[in-house]
Amino acid sequence: MRKRVVAGNWKMNNNLEETGALLSGLKTKLEERQGTEIIVAPTFINLPYALEALKDSGIKVASQNMHQAENGAFTGEISANMLTSVGVRTVILGHSERRAYFGEKDEVLAEKVTTALKHKMQVIFCFGEELEERKSNNHFQVVEEQLKAALFHLDKGSWQNIILAYEPVWAIGTGETASPEQAQEMHAFIRNVIKEKFGTEVSDEISILYGGSVKPANAAEIFAKPDVDGGLIGGASLDVDSFAAIANAF
Ligand code: PGA
Repeated sequence: MRKRVVAGNWKMNNNLEETGALLSGLKTKLEERQGTEIIVAPTFINLPYALEALKDSGIKVASQNMHQAENGAFTGEISANMLTSVGVRTVILGHSERRAYFGEKDEVLAEKVTTALKHKMQVIFCFGEELEERKSNNHFQVVEEQLKAALFHLDKGSWQNIILAYEPVWAIGTGETASPEQAQEMHAFIRNVIKEKFGTEVSDEISILYGGSVKPANAAEIFAKPDVDGGLIGGASLDVDSFAAIANAF
C-alpha cells in the first residue's frame, strides 16, 4: 500500500512561543496516530526547536524551501547541508507562493530537487495550475509540463524520496477546494504521466497529496479518492484540532 501523508505547511506563521504551543498540542493529539506519515513545516528559524520538541513523537519536521547551491554568496539563503546538519530531512519545494512571489522557475526547481536528493532529503514537490489555465482547459498540459521540467531528469531510484503535492493555485488559501472528483481526475492523470516515463513500479508507489483549502469538513471525501494519498495543509494546519482532524480523516 502507498504511504499516506498529511503535511502542514505553516508558511510565515508562528513565532517561537506559538510554535511551542502548536507542537505540544500536536504531539498530544497525534502521537498515537498509526499508518499516516505526519509532517510539519515551521519557519526555518524554529526548525531545531521543532525537532527537539517532536523528538520521539514520530512526527517529521520539514523546511518550506532551501537554496539549490551547496554554499556561497547567497545572502539570506539556507542550504541543504545546513538543514541536514540540524536534523531536517524533508523539504517542501516548488510551492506556488515560491513560484509566484519569489520567481522560482522550473529550471531552478529541478536543481533544488537534485541538490535535496543528493543530500538524501525527502522532497515534497508542489505544482498545480492557475485559474486561467483551468478555465482555458490547459490544466493537464500545465501540470505535465511542470512535472517534466522539474522531475523527469531523475532516475527511478530517486522516486523513493519524492512525494508529489498537486495544489491548484486557485484553491490555495481561497477557501475554494477542488471537488473530490476534480482532485481524483488530476491525481490519476499525474500517476499516468509518471507511469509512462518511469513505469508502474514508480507510479504505483508514489504518494500524491492534494493541497488547497483542505479542512476537517472536506478532508475525508478528498482522501477517500483512490489516487489521493493525503494532503498538504496550509491554513488549517495552524490549528491543533483542525490539523488533527484532517490527519485522522483517512
Ligand atoms: P491552504 O494552503 O490549505 O491554506 O489552501 C495549502 C498550501 O499552500 O499548501
